[in-house]
This record gives sequence, structure tokens and C-alpha cells, in this order.
Amino acid sequence: MVKVEFCTSCGVRLKETGFVRFPCPSCDTELGRCVSCRQQSNMYECKKCGFVGP
Ligand SMILES: [Zn+2]
Ligand SMILES: [Zn+2]
Repeated sequence: MVKVEFCTSCGVRLKETGFVRFPCPSCDTELGRCVSCRQQSNMYECKKCGFVGP
């Protein structure tokens, strides 16, 4: 599986500590979220299936 390199919400590169990678609840595609998007609970959209979640 290809590692996610960018935050799914804001597109920032995931290089600093504190980001998370997790599978899409709908299609299991790996998604990434940076620290600030986690803290702000920004919405993310799965590029593959279009799933949107907080
Ligand atoms: Zn982000
Ligand atoms: Zn998905």
C-alpha cells in the first residue's frame, strides 16, 4: 500500500510528528491528517470514494 504523504484535509505534507494515518471508513483507502486538522476536526474527503467525515 502506498503511504499517504499529504494531509487529506488541507494538503500539507505529513512530515512533522503528530499526524495520523487511518483507513477510510468506507473503502479502506489510507488517509492522512495533520496535527492542526486533527485539533480543529476539519472535514476530510476520501479521494477515492468521496466519503466525507470530521
Ligand atoms: Zn491538514
Ligand atoms: Zn474512501
